[in-house]
Amino acid sequence: MLPAISRQARRGYRVLALESSCDDSCVALLEKLAPHARPRVVDHYKLTLSLAAAGGIIPTAAQVFHNYTIGNLVDKMATDYGFDQRPPDLICVTKGPGMAGSLTASLQLAKGLALAWRVPLVGVHHMLGHLLTPQLDVDVKYPFLSLLCSGGHTMLVYSQSVGHHEVIINTMDIAVGDSLDKCAREIGFYGNQLAREMEKYVRDHPWPTNDGNAPIDLASNLPMKGPKYPRFPPVIEFSFASFLLRVKTTLKNHQDPITEHQRQYIAHHIQSMVFDHIIDRINVALMKHGTNKKLCPTADGKFARVNDIVCSGGVAANKLLRHKLSHNLQFTHTIGHEPTFHFPPLDLCTDNAIMIGLAGIEQFEQLRVMSDMLAVARPKWPLNELMDEPWVPVDDATYDKVTQFKL
Ligand code: AMP
Ligand code: ZN
Repeated sequence: MLPAISRQARRGYRVLALESSCDDSCVALLEKLAPHARPRVVDHYKLTLSLAAAGGIIPTAAQVFHNYTIGNLVDKMATDYGFDQRPPDLICVTKGPGMAGSLTASLQLAKGLALAWRVPLVGVHHMLGHLLTPQLDVDVKYPFLSLLCSGGHTMLVYSQSVGHHEVIINTMDIAVGDSLDKCAREIGFYGNQLAREMEKYVRDHPWPTNDGNAPIDLASNLPMKGPKYPRFPPVIEFSFASFLLRVKTTLKNHQDPITEHQRQYIAHHIQSMVFDHIIDRINVALMKHGTNKKLCPTADGKFARVNDIVCSGGVAANKLLRHKLSHNLQFTHTIGHEPTFHFPPLDLCTDNAIMIGLAGIEQFEQLRVMSDMLAVARPKWPLNELMDEPWVPVDDATYDKVTQFKL
C-alpha cells in the first residue's frame, strides 16, 4: 500500500472509479502523474457475489449485494488513502450497460461523492472499459479489433477512435460465459465460474485426440454454418444458447446418469465447439471486411489497417480459446498481415473498476464529456451509441482544475 499522501501523489490527479454493473462490486484509485503518462493503478478492491446456491444472477439479490458492499469499499479506500485530507479529483462510475439496480447502487453513491467533494463525475460505458484495458501497459493504436467474451457479453468490436466503435458481431441470445457455465452445471459442476472449473477439469482429464468413439451422442455441427446458411450473411451473429440446448437434449435422451467418461467427453467437446464457433464467425467477418475479393467478392477492406486485437472478458482467460484465436484466425488470407494479440491479465479481463477509471479518463480528457446530477443508469447501451448521451461538455476551466500537473 502507498503512503496516504506522498509527495509523488500530490502531482497530477487522482481518480476514484466505481463498478457494479453485474455481480462484482469494485472500487479503484488511479492517478495520472503527467499529461502524456499512462494512468497508474494505486489500488483496487473487489467483492464478488456468490452465485453457487442460486445457480445464476438474481438481479434483486445483486442490487442488495452492491448496496451492502460498494459504500464499504469506498470507505476503506478513503481511510487507506487519506481522502479526508485529499479527496479524488475525478469520479468515474459505470453508467451502463448492465442490470439497472446494480448500476444504480454505484451511480447514486458516485453522484453523492461528486457533490460532496465538488468534483466532476463521468458516467462510463462498461464495454469501453473492457476494450481500453490493455492501454494500461501498452499502446494499442486505432483502428483495432476487440473480442470481448465474458459472462454477460460476447462481441467483436471495431474501434476507430475513443468515441467511435462498431459492433461487428454480437450474440443473438446468451453470452459465451453464461452458456459454458450452464453447460457445466448440466453435467454436474457446482459452484462459481463453472466455465473456469470446466477448463481445469478438461485440462486434468484430456480427451485423446485420436479417439473417434463417442461414448454419448452430442450434436457436432456449428451454428449458422452449412449449405442452408448464406456464407456471408448481412448480419454476422454468435449463438450460444444452442450449445446449452444440445447438452440438455443429450442428457434427456440418455436415461441413466452419465459416467465420468461421458462427462469428460461432453466437457471437452462442448468447450471446443463453442470456441470453434467463435473462430468460425470471426473468420466470416475477416473475409467480409478484409481485402481479398477472391475469398469474398463483396469484401469492403474495413479491417485493412487493423494491427492489434484485444481479447478480454473472463472467458478470454481460457487457454484453449487463446490457442485457437492465435492459430485458427485467417488474418493473412483476409487482411494480408497478422495483427498483435493483447490478452490482459486475468484480474483485468474480468469486471473491475480499474478499466472504468481508465475509460473515464479517456472520456474526460479525449472526448471532453462528463455527466451531471441528471445521470441515470442506462442498462441497454450499444457501444456504437457511446456519444448518443446527454453528455455535459468539459469546459477548459473544469479540465484545468482536474488535470493540474503541479510539482
Ligand atoms: P466476467 O463476466 O468477465 O466477469 O467473466 C466471468 C465469466 O468468465 C464466467 O462465465 C466464468 O465462468 C468465465 N471464465 C472465467 N475464467 C474462465 C476460463 N478460464 N475459461 C472459460 N471461462 C472462464
Ligand atoms: Zn464486463
